[in-house]
Amino acid sequence: MKAVHFTHTLVDEIPEELQTGILYVSRDRDVAGHLCACGCGKEVITPLSPTDWSLTLTRQGATLDPSIGNWAFPCKSHYFISSGNVIWAKDMSNKTIAKGRQLSRMQKQSYYDNLNNPASAIKDVEHKAQPPKQQQGYLQRLATWWKNFLSR
Ligand SMILES: [Zn+2]
Repeated sequence: MKAVHFTHTLVDEIPEELQTGILYVSRDRDVAGHLCACGCGKEVITPLSPTDWSLTLTRQGATLDPSIGNWAFPCKSHYFISSGNVIWAKDMSNKTIAKGRQLSRMQKQSYYDNLNNPASAIKDVEHKAQPPKQQQGYLQRLATWWKNFLSR
């Protein structure tokens, strides 16, 4: 049975047997699970994190971002869950989908960049500014010392 709408339910753990049309969301909000909207019966587990999926729950329903692309399943379903509604990606133009994927890839990349190197920009500036200053100070001190030494 093809799902056209998902109602969400909060659970302690994603149950072993899922029902069509229900989006199970862990109470910790770190994972969600549902059965593939095409009706093939495959379980789709979506981790919820800044680099995976983001979940928005409103009275209208759940929105998962980005889209669900079940490339590993025989059905190769690709759809969006938006305000609980299933929107099939094949109904959207390829261009829109490619753009969306590129955007989320870029967001993911910049998230990791920031994570690995939170102050990279600041550090860079410091590195460039400090050595000449220190060197100058050192040379000046050396010159002063030398002058003092000579005048002794
Ligand atoms: Zn499917």
